[in-house]
Amino acid sequence: MKRDFIPGQSVHKFGIGDKQGRVERSEDPFIPKEGMPETAVCPDCHAIYENKRWRIDKEVADKRKKDEGLASVLCPACRKIAGDYAEGIVTLRGTFLWKHEEQIRNLIRHEEAKARGKNPLQRIISMEREGDDLVIRTTEQKLAEHFGRAVHKAQQGELQVSWDQDHARCRVFWEREE
Ligand SMILES: [Zn+2]
Repeated sequence: MKRDFIPGQSVHKFGIGDKQGRVERSEDPFIPKEGMPETAVCPDCHAIYENKRWRIDKEVADKRKKDEGLASVLCPACRKIAGDYAEGIVTLRGTFLWKHEEQIRNLIRHEEAKARGKNPLQRIISMEREGDDLVIRTTEQKLAEHFGRAVHKAQQGELQVSWDQDHARCRVFWEREE
């Protein structure tokens, strides 16, 4: 079931670049500034919203939802997944990839789990074969960059990380033949 997709008003506001030329976005259009209750739980991933940030703790979320009747609010990551809004796109290719597909998919899943433990908004939207490429779409730019660096570190090959002009999106290419 597809949900309504409301990216919000602040999508064009971005921060100022640092010396490396990278821009940290000053705000995430998927995090509403107004109308958020003080505490809430995401009905899809069970992340808890508290002290203005989301964290993951399914047991606590279930218990508190029951005990306190926490408000149910879809978290920004689940909204991006429902709306298929990727901030990071990782493209993996090369004969080495398909010889070691399972291993590389597992590495990506493992890195997602680790990242998600720290920040529940870092998620994989999809990981699918498209022609000769394996394409991973992520909810946050940083996660895409992280996947690229993790695959490169584990399997060498060629890595390229680039950012769209407005830095709304990170694109990562990795390739290894043989
Ligand atoms: Zn969620």
